[in-house]
Amino acid sequence: FYCPVGAITENSQVREVSNLLKNKEGKTLVFQTAPATRVAISEEFGMEPGDVSTGKMVAALRKLGADVVFDTDFTADLTIMEEGSELLDRIKNGGTLPMFTSCCPGWINMVEKFYPEFIPNLSSCRSPQGMMSSLVKNYWAERIGIKPEDVVVVSIMPCTAKKDEAVRDQLKTESGLQETDYVLTTRELAKLIKLNKVKFASLKESEYNNPLGESTGAAVIFGNTGGVMEAALRTAYEIALEKPMPTLNYTPVRGFQGIKEATVDFGGIDLKVAVVHQASNIHNYMQRLKEGDSMHHFVEFMICKGGCIGGGGEPKSKTGDYLEKRMKGIYKIDDNFKIRKSHENKAVKQIYDQFFGHPLSHKSHHFLHTHYNDRTEKKEQSVKGGFWKWFNKK
Ligand code: SF4
Repeated sequence: FYCPVGAITENSQVREVSNLLKNKEGKTLVFQTAPATRVAISEEFGMEPGDVSTGKMVAALRKLGADVVFDTDFTADLTIMEEGSELLDRIKNGGTLPMFTSCCPGWINMVEKFYPEFIPNLSSCRSPQGMMSSLVKNYWAERIGIKPEDVVVVSIMPCTAKKDEAVRDQLKTESGLQETDYVLTTRELAKLIKLNKVKFASLKESEYNNPLGESTGAAVIFGNTGGVMEAALRTAYEIALEKPMPTLNYTPVRGFQGIKEATVDFGGIDLKVAVVHQASNIHNYMQRLKEGDSMHHFVEFMICKGGCIGGGGEPKSKTGDYLEKRMKGIYKIDDNFKIRKSHENKAVKQIYDQFFGHPLSHKSHHFLHTHYNDRTEKKEQSVKGGFWKWFNKK
């Protein structure tokens, strides 16, 4: 098979998605796009890092043959509803603290493999990718009268670790279907677009499908280090104190410093938070924690430098300041949103009214939360040892 741009040599799923787009075999193809993809894909088409290409990316997916394009930002807002409520619940009821964010699968792998004693600290929320795929197959498909097995979910992510997350046993439907079928990185999507000779830069902008395409400024900042924390504070503060935060731009958690720490006045309680990005900083932080230096209530962890804008699947930009520019692009999108708090997302409110009831309900636990496993070498060997002992007895 001849590929003019070499796209199919990088990842076999590019070929599979490309074939599916040409021959759907009765399937409905649903795409979702992560926050950090929209400020980086532009670089593959001669534009500047940080140029916002949300509408063009959605248009390109439609041109390629997508039936529906949803926004992972919708489930970033949903993550804030669930994770913010989980944090308040742990603080009120003496749950395990500090609570750790759980939307970065690279970080989840690190905890499961190197710091399993801290698994109880992880929020039980699925990542926004995991929540969206669950919603598409378990909620949306039924509402529009399609069988979940006739829906294919393709995620466009800045991240190579999301490919690994997609095949976790915990993220399957009750009948055993994988909820996220394919994951393409931002770079791989650009290759698919080039392979199909779609003129990205001159595309007319298109909008996401609703209801799972509606989002807020709080969701898009998930792409930057500190973004999950800032979004969570905007909501948790307002829910706990019944008044808005004095400022929505919470700058102490912004920027490229490896470990950022801040104290937020939560109406008499000092809420201590931290934001850590890049593996070396995370190991340093965890070392401090292991030595008993426990200083925070809530900590955001992202494996990549700068957060998802620096993800392994983003374009390999040649300019020295591309991360700064992508970061600015993300904050620009947030600034331009009328609604900048997750709990004010109308479609999120509607899904709670019509389906989940309230955050942390039985239903939301079932479809939006997950669990983690000790995957240290010792544990995996003993699991294998147990299997062989059992097998040999047979
Ligand atoms: Fe993926 Fe990196 Fe973002 Fe983590 S920080 S979710 S590894 S892109």
